[in-house]
Amino acid sequence: MECLFCQIIDGKIPSTKVYEDETVYAFKDIHPMAPVHILIIPKQHIASINDVNEENSAVISHIYEVAAKLAKELGIAEDGYRVVSNCGENGGQTVFHLHFHLLGGKKLKVEMC
Ligand code: 5GP
Ligand code: ZN
Repeated sequence: MECLFCQIIDGKIPSTKVYEDETVYAFKDIHPMAPVHILIIPKQHIASINDVNEENSAVISHIYEVAAKLAKELGIAEDGYRVVSNCGENGGQTVFHLHFHLLGGKKLKVEMC
């Protein structure tokens, strides 16, 4: 079965897009855990952080540039926010296409685990 987020990038599954460029796609999480909950993903299929390497890692720094830009645009930059990428079963990853949660718009819980 084809990857869920690859299908979202291809437009085969609808999503609420907030940003797109040549290498990155960002859209609203379907089950938001904060007033702002955006998923930022590379267009290239990378399953998880475990699959980041010298050849594909440039997109990761670009994703952080996009996160900073979106945080400003969405009005959460000044108060602060969190960027999270879950990896594997213990990390709570449920979709195996690398993604970064951009969470903000409220005081987030301090506990990380
Ligand atoms: P993970 O648990 O892998 O870190 O995060 C996966 C995220 O993808 C979850 O927050 C979940 O709500 C979101 N998600 C799962 N399926 C869909 C979908 O079809 N559309 C959107 N927009 N988000 C989804
Ligand atoms: Zn994929």
